[in-house]
Amino acid sequence: MATFLFPSRQKDEHPHSQRTQHHHLDTMADPAALRISTAEEAVARIAYLASDVIVSVQPAHGVDSQFSKHLSRYATRGDKSLVAQTGVPEIQTIRQNADPLLSVFTPIRNGKLTSVTTTSSILVSSVPHLYRLANFPVVIHVSIKPSSYPDYSSITSIRNSGFTFLQSETLQEAQDIALTAHALAIKSWKGVIHFFDPGSSAQDTHIQFENGSLVGAILDLEAVKAFQKGKIGGDSIYADDGRVASITENVSTAPATPMEGVALPAALSIAESTSQAILSKASSVGTSSPGNSSSERNGSVSSATTVESAIERAVASQDIYKFVTEIWTKLEHALGRKYTPFEYSGPSDAENAVFIFGSDVGAFAQAIDAAKATEVYAKAGVITARLYRPWLGLNLVESIPKSIKKVAVLEQIRRKTTKWGPLLLDLLATLKSGPGNGVETIVGHQLGYIAPETVPQALRGVFQNLTSEKPIQNLEVGNADGPTVTEDKADQSQPKVEGAYMKILDQIFGSRLYLANALGAKNAGILDSVATNPEFGFGSLLARKEHRQRFLSEVEKASTSTEFITEAAKPWLKEWISSANDDKKASEIADEIIPRLQMDGSALSQALLAKSGLFRKESQWLVGSDAWAYDLGNSGVHHVLASGENVNMLVIDSTPYSEKAAGNAARRKKDIGLYAMNYGNAYVASVAVYSSYTQVLQAMIEADQFNGPSVIVAYLPYFKEDDSPLTVLQETKKAVYMGYWPLYRWDPKNEEKGAPNFSLDSERIKNELKAFLARDNHLTQLMKRNPQFSSSLAQDYGSEVRALQKRKAKDAYNQLLEGLAGAPLTILFGSDNGNAESLAKRLGNRGKARGLKTMVMAMEDFPIEDLPSEENIVILTSVAGQGEFPQNARAFWDAVKDNTELDLANVKFSLFGLGDSHYWPRKEDKHYYNKPAKDLDRILTNLGGQRLAEIGLGDDQDPDGYQTGYQTWEPLIWQALGVDKVEGLPEEPAPITNEDIKISSNFLRGTIVEGLNDQTTGAISAPDQQLTKFHGTYMQDDRDLRDERKAAGLEPAYSFMIRCRLAGGIATPKQWLQMDDISDAHGNQTMKLTTRQTFQFHGVVKSKLKPAMQDINKALMTTIAACGDVNRNVMCSSLPTQAEYQKEVWHYSKVVSDHLLPSTTAYHEIWLKDENDKKTQVAGDAVQDYEPLYGPTYLPRKFKITIAIPPHNDTDVYAHDIGLIAIKGKDGKLAGFNLTAGGGMGVTHNNKKTYPRTGSMLGYVAKEDIHMACEKVMLVQRDFGDRKNRKHARLKYTMDVMGDDVFKGKVEGMWGKKFQKAKPFHFQSNIDTFGWQKDELGLNHFTFFIENGRIEDTVDFPMKTGLREIAKVLDGEFRLTGNQHLIVSNVKDSQLPQIKEMMAKYKLDNIQFTGLRLSSSACVAFPTCGLAMAESERYLPVLISKLEGVIEENGLRQESIVMRMTGCPNGCARPWLAEVAFVGKAFGTYNMYLGGGYHGQRLNKLYRSSIKEEDILGIMKPLLKRYSLEKTDGEHFGDFCIRIGMIKETTEGKTFHDDVAEEESDEE
Ligand code: SF4
Repeated sequence: MATFLFPSRQKDEHPHSQRTQHHHLDTMADPAALRISTAEEAVARIAYLASDVIVSVQPAHGVDSQFSKHLSRYATRGDKSLVAQTGVPEIQTIRQNADPLLSVFTPIRNGKLTSVTTTSSILVSSVPHLYRLANFPVVIHVSIKPSSYPDYSSITSIRNSGFTFLQSETLQEAQDIALTAHALAIKSWKGVIHFFDPGSSAQDTHIQFENGSLVGAILDLEAVKAFQKGKIGGDSIYADDGRVASITENVSTAPATPMEGVALPAALSIAESTSQAILSKASSVGTSSPGNSSSERNGSVSSATTVESAIERAVASQDIYKFVTEIWTKLEHALGRKYTPFEYSGPSDAENAVFIFGSDVGAFAQAIDAAKATEVYAKAGVITARLYRPWLGLNLVESIPKSIKKVAVLEQIRRKTTKWGPLLLDLLATLKSGPGNGVETIVGHQLGYIAPETVPQALRGVFQNLTSEKPIQNLEVGNADGPTVTEDKADQSQPKVEGAYMKILDQIFGSRLYLANALGAKNAGILDSVATNPEFGFGSLLARKEHRQRFLSEVEKASTSTEFITEAAKPWLKEWISSANDDKKASEIADEIIPRLQMDGSALSQALLAKSGLFRKESQWLVGSDAWAYDLGNSGVHHVLASGENVNMLVIDSTPYSEKAAGNAARRKKDIGLYAMNYGNAYVASVAVYSSYTQVLQAMIEADQFNGPSVIVAYLPYFKEDDSPLTVLQETKKAVYMGYWPLYRWDPKNEEKGAPNFSLDSERIKNELKAFLARDNHLTQLMKRNPQFSSSLAQDYGSEVRALQKRKAKDAYNQLLEGLAGAPLTILFGSDNGNAESLAKRLGNRGKARGLKTMVMAMEDFPIEDLPSEENIVILTSVAGQGEFPQNARAFWDAVKDNTELDLANVKFSLFGLGDSHYWPRKEDKHYYNKPAKDLDRILTNLGGQRLAEIGLGDDQDPDGYQTGYQTWEPLIWQALGVDKVEGLPEEPAPITNEDIKISSNFLRGTIVEGLNDQTTGAISAPDQQLTKFHGTYMQDDRDLRDERKAAGLEPAYSFMIRCRLAGGIATPKQWLQMDDISDAHGNQTMKLTTRQTFQFHGVVKSKLKPAMQDINKALMTTIAACGDVNRNVMCSSLPTQAEYQKEVWHYSKVVSDHLLPSTTAYHEIWLKDENDKKTQVAGDAVQDYEPLYGPTYLPRKFKITIAIPPHNDTDVYAHDIGLIAIKGKDGKLAGFNLTAGGGMGVTHNNKKTYPRTGSMLGYVAKEDIHMACEKVMLVQRDFGDRKNRKHARLKYTMDVMGDDVFKGKVEGMWGKKFQKAKPFHFQSNIDTFGWQKDELGLNHFTFFIENGRIEDTVDFPMKTGLREIAKVLDGEFRLTGNQHLIVSNVKDSQLPQIKEMMAKYKLDNIQFTGLRLSSSACVAFPTCGLAMAESERYLPVLISKLEGVIEENGLRQESIVMRMTGCPNGCARPWLAEVAFVGKAFGTYNMYLGGGYHGQRLNKLYRSSIKEEDILGIMKPLLKRYSLEKTDGEHFGDFCIRIGMIKETTEGKTFHDDVAEEESDEE
């Protein structure tokens, strides 16, 4: 607003000066005391003091409103409210498009004073609630929007809702009127809306904080208590509860109980009534429902209501006037500021006045004050409404001088719905038709935006019109469109992430897509809030349909018309008419018609062409948000369903799964999907783009084809606008897997076709859906069809199974122990990797042997309520993450850590921790060492427990690891229990090792078959988990879901990873299609191209494992020996430039691979055999397998072979057990190989006995002998590898123990031949060359950039679909590279244009990435890899994005820097050969390595341990900058880091741990 400060009140000179700010005297004296700077802050403070509950409406999750930023600050500080029963009021934040006023009902009915802070944007759509809330003492503080030029129509539109409306203009008024609003609500028990334009007071001098005791006095705390004591009751928010605020007038002489300090008229008090009499008079909401009794609100102020002669009546306008006047009188006495329902300023003899309903009244007043006497508007009066509703006409008449003859009304209403403005109508009714005074002329004006400097000009216009002979009504003043500023789009816009579904609609339907209610679409004069609601969209769709119907008749006419110049189009028009509703045919024919019409040139052709879009059948969609699922839109959704029209609705729900439980019951959203299914005539689908992209596509296509209404409810959870995709992904997964958001499709017409109506596309459903299906027998059908669903369907999400299971297990144990002698000993364990568990079990067995009644269970399985009754309890726990409890101990810890009720006075306990004192090398992190055990020891002591023995701490760094500490601790337990001297203890069986498992497995059979047939679990047994690795599959579980499933009493979400065996990584197009099919049919619809050049599938559930294996074999691939202690997939450089040579070398990868395959028939027997397969039946155990190479125990550890073709080291030849470097002969053909041995990556954090190693050169071997040389290297390892310690079992350790020369000698001895001297070769790089290349035969090859090898479709990048389409036509082959990328190979020139076009279409030709990204590589890690300690594949791309700014700034865009990341030190992405690498240590924490050789020739070295993202960026950004400035010509990043002394060079594996940049601190 314009400045309108006046030095003093000089009545004659500046008659409007009271419209300046009211300042308290003190604040003028002490500017430092002026604390409040915005109207919202002033209001928020009052609301906070005067409420139990504040519903704070926010633009979006995580986006503060101008009120909420203050509210949350007060609440966080624990500031006390004057009225809140709990001291600190409850702040409920609700998104503005989530029907916020719905949240008011529950607290207000429960006697909680509730207020709302919001912008005006929610008001119109909240009308149904407003009517009902008007009779509760709710206060709604409204700042009017848009801020640049507020639209008061949002206030006038709701003026008849029954609320009292108060308006404030200045900052000081905002504070006073806010207080008035609360006091008035309490006095009248009616809702009050306090509205203001915050912009009007933006320039005001800051004001003082309110005076707390005065606020209390004005609010009338006694009356507050009276309200809080009562409960209004009723739980239906939809039904009208018939409540109406009323007062009881005591007409007898009996003394009343007036409220303290309130000058109520004698015998006037307030109560409520549901009496029909009052309802019929005063309620605006129809009929009452019985059962809502006012008697629940006993103890109210109305003891007078018991007086027989009391009369109840609804609160009337005059009551409001009385109450508000009383409040204002008190305010005036205390503060000297005066308020009246209407405010007039100006000379007492003014003839003309302006009544302003809009912003910046002060600017007008100031202009009038400043006017020269000759100005047409000089000496005019200004009128405003302080109390806008109830409209007290009489009071207005009294407020303005009798001299006034003409009144100009200025209404700032942007959206005019009636011809006359609402305020004009009010005035006409009051001044013209009412008792009136001398007012003769009232002229309405529409007030547009007026810049401060043009106010005089505007006034001139208004008054010239007013005083003219024939004034024009509805004259527009100012700019009706408002100033050109960009409004805060958070107001109406849907969250950004929701764009995903729009893009998919666009992707499927393209030009056929018609969005009826697209946001931001130009719907003239219609607010976004209206344009996006279903009713509006539906109406526009119907109009659209009629439009096409008309077009159809026009075409029909045209098809027989003689007005065309040519006849060419006519037959096509005829054909079109019969196919107009067939989307495909209509489009095809349209393609024929349009060019013919264009050729014709007649007027008729032109007319038809003007509407040519209508030749295609549109796919029409209404898109909305979850706000529709509350009350408001439901009628709209209902409308669409009831119409039976062929309309598609997409409703996007964004409530995160983790938040769903927090919502209050009254706000529960209606399940639109169920609602629509119950309706019976609609196609319904429930989808989630981050769970199954394909299912979304399928549902949208089906909805489009369904003739009738279709509803797709789509899930896309988000907390904040800037949520990372990872958060969205994890929330989606939880919701889907837990059955909260099941994926399904429902087609009510399927039954006619003999197909089931309901298809469940995920595994679990919630109760409500189950009940629906059960009713119509669909559930039985579903179970019959998919028996695998039945076990998961039987347990619903949210069930209490877990608690029951715990109880049962414990009781069963107790029963078992009954009757046994000896002291009881309960042993609990918390264990992630099994060490603590097996130690606990062994302790249990030993205890039993000593005669104790031992019970061993995981901490989470122990019912916590039993803790006080245990006699002796010992707990063994390891450490997870940063000093946290292992997964299966967290629930236990959560239950005891803040518990004050458990009394453990009779419990003896002891703790043993398993940790690693060096895991966290930094001093400040030392306390993480064995933290869980130490914490628990402290808590149990605090709860009164007595130590059985001192806490024992096992340390991986001790000579015997944790055993060292354990050996001292265990005897203390036996001593304490008096069983240390027991004689004749039995010998303990040795623990079962992997070697034992292999031996007893009968050549890898184990009990795999039995495990696969066990439908009670998604898992297989632990030994079988080891054995299936040999068959190419690992059991995993989804780690994103572990906690959720545990909480719901479910076993982890088990699934399997399957890895194919594909020597050299070459696949035919047909094989590609088959792999793609497998990922869709059996896996999670994605494929991973691995660092070992093969396909990997994830998310294959047990029941699909066998079909998946069979399909892989049908594709002429296998999975045998893809994992396990055998020779794995043999790799080979993909070398696109030398076709013949590559083929020749690749051939040897096949030869070596085949030669070293295990020969057990178990693989075929388990996976491929069916009932009819007789030939491979092994009769019992009678036929023994024989493994000529491996023997029954196979190898001590995994074994890897690779081939590199210089100058490309794209397969990292030094990182493998055997590396073969292809050597060309003089004839240009392959002659043989240099053979390196003993490379390997995997290490264990902090275990210096483990290290990565580059292979040692053994020498040259002719190509004919190469498979034999490899075999012999492998066999020496078979015989000499360390089978006792798997951490020390790889060939690299065997060789270092033996020495390279001795090892070589043994190989040669076994082979009977000698290695020749290695031939010279030269490597240049270990990365791929992206883009097109041509080979010597003229064939073309394109290397795609596949980030981290993941083949999937996303909204922005349909990569999987694109590659599939290419595979369908490709006359060539696919090559998978060792860097997880893909080459489309052998493309003939003739096919080149076609392939290029397809690549462009699917955006597959994009290789314009930074060199850093192109040279990066990450392993899978979370969520599937069981070993992962930190994110990798999902995080590296994010990290690179954060570095790319620096890369670009410093001109390093083209620079190839090899960066790799893995989730754990197993090293699948070969991190120790990268120039810079990050290896996961704990969630969000990595070890950083620098100085690797650019072409994989040198190991890197640890630079920093346990650092987080900000540290990583803090190191990398300046380092990259320095690299750009100081690097020498052609110097690679790894070499640079060594040259400048950042890191020492690692010369060989054994020196990997030497000279690290950061020495560990040994201090405890
Ligand atoms: S490096 Fe570790 S986390 Fe990554 S995939 Fe391999 S085992 Fe899993």
